[in-house]
Amino acid sequence: MRKMDLNAVVQQRVEVAPGLMVIRVVPDGWELPDFTPGQFAVLGLPPDAPRCDIADPDEEEHKPGKLIRRAYSIASSSVAREYLELYITLVRSGALTPRLFALETGDRVWLGPKISGRFTLDEAPDDADLVLIATGTGLAPYMSMLRTMLPQGDERRIAVFLGARHSWDLGYQSELVTLDRMKPSFSYLSIISRPAEEPVPWGGPAGYVQDLWRGDHLQRIWGSRPTPESARVFLCGNPAMIDDMAAILAEEGFREHSRKQPGHVFVERYW
Ligand SMILES: Cc1cc2nc3c(=O)[nH]c(=O)nc-3n(C[C@H](O)[C@H](O)[C@H](O)COP(=O)(O)OP(=O)(O)OC[C@H]3O[C@@H](n4cnc5c(N)ncnc54)[C@H](O)[C@@H]3O)c2cc1C
Repeated sequence: MRKMDLNAVVQQRVEVAPGLMVIRVVPDGWELPDFTPGQFAVLGLPPDAPRCDIADPDEEEHKPGKLIRRAYSIASSSVAREYLELYITLVRSGALTPRLFALETGDRVWLGPKISGRFTLDEAPDDADLVLIATGTGLAPYMSMLRTMLPQGDERRIAVFLGARHSWDLGYQSELVTLDRMKPSFSYLSIISRPAEEPVPWGGPAGYVQDLWRGDHLQRIWGSRPTPESARVFLCGNPAMIDDMAAILAEEGFREHSRKQPGHVFVERYW
């Protein structure tokens, strides 16, 4: 593998919490392609790239010279396109993330030249309310949607539900709280599952995003519960959360969307 095959540069890297990072990558000498908020890019590193200190040893055999590649939802706006921002969690035993977490500003990385994915707002009606539900880094595609749509004056009612174990794992918290305060049509609801481990008592709801949906949190803000007629629901992140939410939603008449059979629930599974 030649150094130049790693065709992008790390412009910025912020560790939000241990094992949670926001990274900005910039193509070196080529243009980022157009993309739609909600889509994903692919990052890659060679097997001889070092792993970060807190990772487990690599048990896997990698073919020398063959890039290890994985998909990452884009968190940045599709309008301001100087860089791609990605929001990544460390899988300590994983193949790629321990190598990504060892990257420093200025290091090189492979960025796939093609951006793809169908987890976008294209097939949601313009007049439907949007409930965007995520665990952990499943928030990334919604950040791209919000950062693209809100400055363009989108007035749809939008709610983000974000679940994490601890308050410090709620990435983009200050940006989302600020949007919530500034934009009457936008609501941000967060929930943590391990409140007993908080050093400062957590004043918000405790449990899982499923509990936020079952409760009346959004009803109190919107004045009514979202229904299949009024809203589209997006689910992103942990597949166990997605399966659970899909089952709860099905009981309320929400059907999963596909091109062949338009429905009310849009899904992106990270694994
Ligand atoms: C369309 C798409 C978009 C994705 N976007 C993101 C993103 O924006 N941010 C992100 O962090 N990951 C994202 N992922 C997951 C990502 O592609 C990798 O699977 C992940 O980074 C682990 O890679 P790895 O090589 O370190 O682990 P691997 O050696 O590939 O191990 C995979 C295992 O890691 C665990 N795992 C994978 N992803 C996560 C995760 N996000 N959180 C906790 N455990 C996980 C699962 O147990 C999985 O079986 C996305 C996946 C898909 C398919």
